[in-house]
Amino acid sequence: MKKLILLILTFLFITGCSNKEVVTIIEDQKELVSINYPVTNVGVLDDAVSSYVNRIYTNFKKEYKKEEKPELNISYTYKELNESVINISLNTEITARKKINKIKTFTYDKNTQKFLSMEDIVEDLDVLDYDIKQKILEKYQDADMDFLSQVNYDYFTIDDENLTIYFGPAMLKNKNSEIIYLDIPLNSLKLLIDIDKSKNTDIYLNIKKKNIDYNDKVVALTFDDGPSKYTNKILDVLKTYDACGTFFVIGNKVDFYDETLTRMLKEGSEIGNHSYSHKWLNRLSKEEFQNELNKTQNEIKKATGFTPKLFRPTYGGYSDRLKSYTDLYFVLWDVDSRDWKVKSKDKILRNVLPNVKDGSIILMHDNHSYAASAIESVVKQLKDEGYKFVTVSELLELKDLRENE
Ligand code: ZN
Repeated sequence: MKKLILLILTFLFITGCSNKEVVTIIEDQKELVSINYPVTNVGVLDDAVSSYVNRIYTNFKKEYKKEEKPELNISYTYKELNESVINISLNTEITARKKINKIKTFTYDKNTQKFLSMEDIVEDLDVLDYDIKQKILEKYQDADMDFLSQVNYDYFTIDDENLTIYFGPAMLKNKNSEIIYLDIPLNSLKLLIDIDKSKNTDIYLNIKKKNIDYNDKVVALTFDDGPSKYTNKILDVLKTYDACGTFFVIGNKVDFYDETLTRMLKEGSEIGNHSYSHKWLNRLSKEEFQNELNKTQNEIKKATGFTPKLFRPTYGGYSDRLKSYTDLYFVLWDVDSRDWKVKSKDKILRNVLPNVKDGSIILMHDNHSYAASAIESVVKQLKDEGYKFVTVSELLELKDLRENE
């Protein structure tokens, strides 16, 4: 009997492993909060990541209570170095009176069930140590020698080309808020583990075409802050009712959900850009803003082969200055479900259904369960009222056509 239970548990554990997801927390109240972090279904690693995030979140809520619109932004990088080793970094940015940048990394070996340090990955680290310090001195002229002499290598990430080591701002004499880092080409290192290169998959896209007539009564459903584990549920409903949506995705999450994104396009939905890490955009410089957009364009292109033309500004905040920095078309909405706030299917329906008219753009969110719970009723009701569902691009085309008549 005992053996059977063990077997079932192992089975659950193994099948559970493939269910990676990204948790997204977005709050737009007294503070602005945008957090994205990966859940791998490797318990120990997930616990370490989520308790770190919780600690930052709780401290932020406590420490910045009195400031005007303080902003917390956490984004991540995720890489499976090989079948067994996962490397995650969490990048924290706090924008308040003072700007704070922090990075924390986790490297976990599923086989040995241990967190790995750089010593476990790089051979002869003590020999390399001198070289690394020389390179830091070349890169950062005002590196603090005292600090440097006792530096450790706790935080690092690895991509296809480089091992990147991170140091806190204390590394510099003129402490500022930037993250200090050093890239070391992998091919210059002797590694103790195998590192798999990222796969490049060929993408074949077959986008579903729709028949929309000039006089059709149309409506566009839009979904922000995904993708997530709820997105497929929404897509199931859209497919059942021959409807479609426009999904404004957060670039930082795309890599985890490439199949979901491909499905969107195949089934006649559209993908738009909702920035890379969901920051309050008006605070960004031109370069920072363009970087948020371009990184997301690249992620979507890499995952699906599709290049978005639409952009939805985060927290609905935009300006002519931001618009002048990009060719992407800014898309807002006229019907707001307020799903993230009302958290109930009935209230969502009340916010949406009476307010829809021909040409409406409806705002919902697919990073939590509320929109997914209401979507079937929304689609069914609007379909009964004679609406046809279009993507935002199709809606814009139709509006254009009607205006130029
Ligand atoms: Zn958003």
